[in-house]
Amino acid sequence: MNIHASITPIDEATRQVRVDLAAAYRLIHRLGLDDSIYTHISVRLPGAHDRFLINPYGMRFEEVTASNLVTVDVDGKVIDDPLGLGINPAGFTIHSAIHAARHDVLCVLHTHTVAGVAVSCQKDGLQPLNQWSMQFTDRIAYHDFEGIALDLSERERLVRDLGAKMVLILRNHGLLTCGRSVGEAFKLMHNMERSCRAQLALQSSGVEIIRPSLAIAQHTAGQYDRGYARIEVEGQKDGEWAAFKRMLERTDADYVN
Ligand SMILES: [Zn+2]
Repeated sequence: MNIHASITPIDEATRQVRVDLAAAYRLIHRLGLDDSIYTHISVRLPGAHDRFLINPYGMRFEEVTASNLVTVDVDGKVIDDPLGLGINPAGFTIHSAIHAARHDVLCVLHTHTVAGVAVSCQKDGLQPLNQWSMQFTDRIAYHDFEGIALDLSERERLVRDLGAKMVLILRNHGLLTCGRSVGEAFKLMHNMERSCRAQLALQSSGVEIIRPSLAIAQHTAGQYDRGYARIEVEGQKDGEWAAFKRMLERTDADYVN
């Protein structure tokens, strides 16, 4: 019997997002952007607006695999939990809000990093001062801190503040990116993280800063938008995401299991 004969397109799509999501967890760990067992990366299940995958609560990011992810619905009901560990309630609040409201978003990626948290505390947020950060000109939403996100009513305010944007700075808390694919959310976070690190390095240098014009910053952001759209809309191969996943092949090849 051909075991592949029974695999439907939706099974294949689900398998792919599970593998990509596990890769994102491993890569966030590899790059030092994880925070113990906290923060999350989630993916809406293909073909479903009300179900998403998230990491089992209590596992470190380097322990996540494609098959140990938890399936949960937007009301918090756990549908499938292979390890029986459940999910983090605060993580559920943030991720379910976005998955329920933004059906154009496949992946939601949230981090607490020193650089991201530090910039999230700055009144003026991320400044478009270099090529990395200029891509985010007029493309960052901000959400005020309300305490650990355990109050489900915060979901309305999160969604209102995010609007149609793909990047959210959670003030006094951390960074969040959305993606039409896991790769897009990951690349946006990678660029946000480096933008924040560059801003802190620049601020600590004390030297006079060259400020590009708003027009140049907006032009640069448009260039990045078109690059992302070529992959997410026109179907061009995502060479950068494929290259990131190759980083895992030698040391983390079990992420696909
Ligand atoms: Zn958080």
